[in-house]
Amino acid sequence: MSHSPALLAVFGNPVEHSLSPLIHDFFAKQEGRAIKYEKRLVEGDFATCARKFFAEGGIGCNVTVPCKIEAFNFVTGKSKRAIAAQAVNTIVSSCDSAGERTYWGDNTDGFGLFNDLLRLYCPLKGSRILIIGAGGAARGILPALQNDGSMQSITIVNRTTAKAQELIASMQEFYAQNLPEKQLCPMSACSFADLQDSKLRFEVLINATSLSMSKSLPDLKDDYYRHARFAYDLFYTPEGKTVFTEQAKSLGVSESFDGLGMLVGQAALAYEQWFNSRPDINSTLEYMRKVLAARA
Ligand code: NDP
Repeated sequence: MSHSPALLAVFGNPVEHSLSPLIHDFFAKQEGRAIKYEKRLVEGDFATCARKFFAEGGIGCNVTVPCKIEAFNFVTGKSKRAIAAQAVNTIVSSCDSAGERTYWGDNTDGFGLFNDLLRLYCPLKGSRILIIGAGGAARGILPALQNDGSMQSITIVNRTTAKAQELIASMQEFYAQNLPEKQLCPMSACSFADLQDSKLRFEVLINATSLSMSKSLPDLKDDYYRHARFAYDLFYTPEGKTVFTEQAKSLGVSESFDGLGMLVGQAALAYEQWFNSRPDINSTLEYMRKVLAARA
């Protein structure tokens, strides 16, 4: 094992709040690896900041809001997951046989969520899934759910309905071009008003809006919670509870979880790509809950 620390970073704006350095430092400590994981604020162009970092010896990085699309355009090669999401959150740098630097881009957000749903025994098979929100996070998780494909249907409800429709159209286009043989689980888009008037039922509710950040709830009638068995909020808190998971619990949803497991899961897959070694999720989650609680 090398004695000089491997240089890594997370790029974003803002970036100060990012938990990625803590998570990756914990992963590295578990296996006695020396890393130097920095936070890099992107104030202009992502590509310029990234080139500077890699010229300084960076071997890989994570990318957060609002740079994931710029990162997608920056990389020289990308995974199918990144193409499906049209966004990159992980870059691995290496040199090709001609000595040219190459940048491989991936999107590990969807894996992070999907892996967490499995860890939590989410009843995906045969279920009707409601994804609330159609922003960057929903874009990352939809291909992970479609790759599994065991659910009965996926409905996306969003304040801006057109964004949910565009998301579905771009997913259909991705699969038609890249995996035409894939049978997609049926997807539909709707508005919150459509749901007020509908008698649809969902077993699994996934909140991919940013509403919990401001302690607000999506405009969903109580019946949707009453019929659900599992609720997941991508947002996370030290206690593992959000306004959404609390609402679900109070209306009888038996299982409700926040998104810290997704965060750790996406980080674990990024780490594996840099070092070819998969970190342990459960011990990291336990550590991160303690860190967050101490900060609260
Ligand atoms: P975006 O800004 O890309 O999307 C925000 C989403 O929230 C959009 O669907 C938006 O609707 C909706 N929204 C925002 N405000 C309102 C409102 N007042 N009423 C109704 N809908 C609203 O954010 P991201 O997708 O990147 O992140 C979403 C959440 O996921 C955040 O809480 C973030 O912290 C969390 N997240 C967690 C991760 C994890 O690893 N656990 C990873 C990534 C994100 P509209 O399109 O109409 O604007």
